[in-house]
Amino acid sequence: MSMLRFTKGNDVLGTANRGNPAESSLCTLCRADCTGKCETWMSSMIGRKLLYPRDFGVVTAGANNITHTGISYNALRIQGYAYGSKGMAPGLSNDPDDCIFPNVSLESEFGQEIKTKVRVPIMTGALGSTFIAAKYWDSFAIGCSLVGAPIVVGENVVGVDKESVLEGGKIVKAPELDRRIDTYLRYNDGYGAIIVQMNVEDARNGVAEYIANKYGDKVIMELKWGQGAKDIGGEIQVKSLEYAKFLKDRGYVVDPDPEKASVQEAFKNGSIKSFARHSRLGATNLSNVDQVREDFMKNIEYLRGLGFKRISLKTGAYGMEALAMAIKFASEAKLDLLTIDGAGGGTGMSPWNMMQSWGVPSPILHAKAYEYTSMLAAAGKNTTDLSFAGGFALEDSIFKGLALGAPYTKMICMGRSLMVPGFLGSNIEGVLRPDRREAVNGNWDALPKTVSEIGSKAEEIFAGYYDIQAKVGADEMKNIPYGAMAIWTLADKLAAGLQQLLAGARKFNLSEISRDDLVSGNRETERETKIPFVGDAGDEIAKAILKG
Ligand code: SF4
Repeated sequence: MSMLRFTKGNDVLGTANRGNPAESSLCTLCRADCTGKCETWMSSMIGRKLLYPRDFGVVTAGANNITHTGISYNALRIQGYAYGSKGMAPGLSNDPDDCIFPNVSLESEFGQEIKTKVRVPIMTGALGSTFIAAKYWDSFAIGCSLVGAPIVVGENVVGVDKESVLEGGKIVKAPELDRRIDTYLRYNDGYGAIIVQMNVEDARNGVAEYIANKYGDKVIMELKWGQGAKDIGGEIQVKSLEYAKFLKDRGYVVDPDPEKASVQEAFKNGSIKSFARHSRLGATNLSNVDQVREDFMKNIEYLRGLGFKRISLKTGAYGMEALAMAIKFASEAKLDLLTIDGAGGGTGMSPWNMMQSWGVPSPILHAKAYEYTSMLAAAGKNTTDLSFAGGFALEDSIFKGLALGAPYTKMICMGRSLMVPGFLGSNIEGVLRPDRREAVNGNWDALPKTVSEIGSKAEEIFAGYYDIQAKVGADEMKNIPYGAMAIWTLADKLAAGLQQLLAGARKFNLSEISRDDLVSGNRETERETKIPFVGDAGDEIAKAILKG
């Protein structure tokens, strides 16, 4: 771990973490009611201004992230070059007047036959049945839709929905899933995508059939093998005995067992206050690679038979065998996207010490994903576009993820960091539009100083306000949740930062990004990522210049 980069306070930006910063820069525990003010939280209001040190004109600033210990994304550094330019858009020249960072194109696309276009190469993590995803969904979905970034509906959304109706074990009515999909599609203008995950319970409940009938191929279906934060199925916590029993009836593992007399007694007397709902592990009945392949291909064939044209896979921080299987099977099945979530990835609810100790850390997993995908490419095989996940929050880490897996990495999948603006905007909206407080799940009674210092209405608080207005029209602004405005504003800051880093690397189109744009800050990181050590990269060329 690079020890120095993130401390609780960042004097340069004038930001401060509420809790302890993780390697992503976010607090290990991020709260929906947080009053600030980490970099992501502040960027969700003031946007690209936060790319720079505060108090311009009376300060100077210097970096403290140059001592790199251990292997992490923070131990990778970004190359810059003294000359050249690549990837200028048609109509633009290599003249310095054209080669300016706002001209860097961040548009990307992924997929096999059908390309899914995105305006920025970021997507959300899977926002599933965890209540925090449902509560802030409008902000997340509308924000991402306006930005042109894909959103992922996580597993179990139908199963935990009390309003959903199953007939003969198959879903016939799924209002929460409908809401999630419809909200995203409302502002969708052809960029981005709605991706819906399916796990063991979802497959049993007939989620795929339901979506195929209702939405057809507007939705990308995602098979889920796992995630970075845990190696068991997803969990949520419920506080009512009735709901716990309902979930048990729906076929979930509920712990402790709400049917047990002693548990009911303990609940009544208050010593048990909540129940954990777990999903099952997948593929427990399979014992070798061939069986997993066969089962996987059967599932894909089934989904294709239902009419899905775009299918993706998400895998977690499992070891190298599972990584190789995911890469190889995705290639064989011609999947459209493979998301690889390393340890360091976030969650709504995973066992804490499991999160701390299990699985392959993101930079190592992602470096291997590049190596394995390259092996397929070298053998002339089909390769799947990749999305890297697990601890990404800032623009430099987005750059590093994209470069480490280039040319296969098309997207960076961000969970917790894209949720922060959803919380923040909803809290602000709850204060400024009290009639909407309940609808948006605002947590505040008044604006904290950290917000009121910036402004007292949406137009003053969100740097992206008028850009959104230009896109949707002044009349429509009343329907845009403040959380969506905050997501737009954060995405704009990340995009501008990414454009600057790409311009410095002389790449004016995202598709030009390459592993050569990275160097390792220490030997360990070099050994594991195969990205050359900073003092070695270009050393031969340097010496040839000196000898010439
Ligand atoms: S928004 Fe989350 S990550 Fe940021 S300071 Fe608050 S709790 Fe920490």
